[in-house]
Amino acid sequence: MNNMLSFVIPAKNEQDSLIQLYQEICLTVATLKRPFEIVFVDDGSTDETFQILKSLHDKDKRVKVVKLRGNWGKSIALQIGFGKTKGDIIFTLDGDLQDNPHTIPAFLKKLDEGYDLVSGWKKNRHDPSLTKVLPSRIVNSLSRRLTGVKIHDINCGFKAYRREVIENLNLYGELYRFIPIIAAKQNYKVGEIIVDHRPRIYGKTKFGWSRGIKGILDLLTIVFLTGFKNRPGHFFGSAGLMSFSAGFIIGVYIAYLRLTTGSIQNRHPLLFLGMLLMIIGVQLISTGLLAEMIIFSREKSDYTFSIKEYLA
Ligand code: UDP
Ligand code: MG
Repeated sequence: MNNMLSFVIPAKNEQDSLIQLYQEICLTVATLKRPFEIVFVDDGSTDETFQILKSLHDKDKRVKVVKLRGNWGKSIALQIGFGKTKGDIIFTLDGDLQDNPHTIPAFLKKLDEGYDLVSGWKKNRHDPSLTKVLPSRIVNSLSRRLTGVKIHDINCGFKAYRREVIENLNLYGELYRFIPIIAAKQNYKVGEIIVDHRPRIYGKTKFGWSRGIKGILDLLTIVFLTGFKNRPGHFFGSAGLMSFSAGFIIGVYIAYLRLTTGSIQNRHPLLFLGMLLMIIGVQLISTGLLAEMIIFSREKSDYTFSIKEYLA
């Protein structure tokens, strides 16, 4: 226990927002009298983002800066940022000033109530309604229904975690967006609070309507991954066994006809169906076994190779 707060902030081309964001965080945290650090992850910015972060780091060593080699996307940027944190409690927030740091104490209060992860809820959202708010509503309500995790705004960038929640994760790619679901399935206590969302003043959004579609595909993955825990063999295997058994019974029947009557009569379509079911069955079972082998041999995803520079 070190009482420290860590802030992880992914930033791609956010040059005009970062200094103000830094100041706002410092002002809010000063009232809490706790040590803190801010880990900025420059995710392949092509503007002055890195220079600005470097100047902050030069003045204040509580500011750490990870510069990635190119653009890896928000999820991986966060994952790398997490790896550099030391605090007992880790916050993530967006680098575009849309998340207002003055909500930080409310997050801490909720954690103190016994929650392990607190997710922000942009109830009054200041984003384009047709391209962002609507698709996000759809993904969120699907997510609530399919996973049973009652969070309104799963993809909110503003969240607070106890360290153990992020340490036990073994995630890759975009799945970082679903940490609340994964954490809830691991029986961590997941809660949410309403946050003060502001319109974007500087820079541009990096996500458009297509995120909604990707969101649905990701949701499918997460429902599968959390629903069948680490046993894809059970999922594919049971479908495969059913298919194979049905095909096998058909095969036995055809063999019986051939042996007793000397012909399979007009049962050719049934013969083909039986063969097809057995082949599909074997394929499904082997897919399940392959998936099990992949899980068995997979190491924790490591993206440290994508770090170009680290100012500690
Ligand atoms: N971001 C990033 N890498 C990317 C895209 C976005 O680090 O490839 C950062 C971005 O700089 C911002 C946060 O992720 O700090 C959220 O992005 P944005 O504000 O564009 O998303 P929106 O609020 O529009 O959903
Ligand atoms: Mg934003």
